[in-house]
Amino acid sequence: MKKILVLLGTLVIVGLFGLTIVNGKKSTISPSGKLKVATSFYPLYYFASQIGGNKVVVQNITPSGAEPHDYDPSTRDMATIEKGSMLILNGGVESWGDKIKANLKGTNVLVVTAGEGLLTQTVMEEGKNQIDPHVWLDPQSAKKEVNAILQGYLKVDPKNRDYYYANANALLAQLDSLDAAYAKGLATCQKKDIITSHAAFGYLATRYHLTQVPIAGLSPDAEPSAQQLADVVQFAQANHITYIFFESLISPKLSQTIATEIGARTMVLDPIEGVADTDMKAGKNYYTIMQDNLKALQTALQCTQ
Ligand SMILES: [Zn+2]
Repeated sequence: MKKILVLLGTLVIVGLFGLTIVNGKKSTISPSGKLKVATSFYPLYYFASQIGGNKVVVQNITPSGAEPHDYDPSTRDMATIEKGSMLILNGGVESWGDKIKANLKGTNVLVVTAGEGLLTQTVMEEGKNQIDPHVWLDPQSAKKEVNAILQGYLKVDPKNRDYYYANANALLAQLDSLDAAYAKGLATCQKKDIITSHAAFGYLATRYHLTQVPIAGLSPDAEPSAQQLADVVQFAQANHITYIFFESLISPKLSQTIATEIGARTMVLDPIEGVADTDMKAGKNYYTIMQDNLKALQTALQCTQ
């Protein structure tokens, strides 16, 4: 019996050492033989998953249901990124982007900044023009992000290039259909002004000729002053706004306060910065939420299409 126990113990030790050695290789291929890719937050996770399909395991760094503007990756997140073949960032959202890029220098992890060259708009905040990173909410800019991610896949896994191309083309067609639905659905509306929870809809507003008046700033935690709140209320009254938008991931309190003040209703307009697990299980994704957002805009702006 004793001998058997010793033998078992030896086997366990060998087993543990075996595991350590495997992990020590920092394999960029998952145990299932799939490529490992990390994305900073949800829309990039969606794009990367759609293009990568069954060849890839995509790990999203910002936890589902968390807000990416103020997320700080853990040591474990950093290890996940370092063990992958590619890290996909948006640019301008990830406060940790520069640090991780410096850390990854000299490794084999390809960093793709999908929003590079697309962040052309600014928002005045605290007396300064700040770069607006929310390009994924404009389907045409989202297509450019998809193309940047596709190029990344072609670099890290060229042998599957036809597969990635086919998936990317399907995704681009989906984005084209969203663009067409938005252009048509927002063409004939009584109103053009949207009061949003934070300044996430600037590129979408530009694309479809709307005017965004954000309650908070570019980041949801950039809280407005009493004067800014008073200005929003005054704007809403002067323009007969009937809906004030809020977001599912942050407190709706300010939106509700303004709505109560002017006798308006509230409704969700989702910046798709994160999707809660329960919503994902219910089948929600970037594409369906974009469709929900269009319906919300059409109601709030009294569109006829
Ligand atoms: Zn945002």
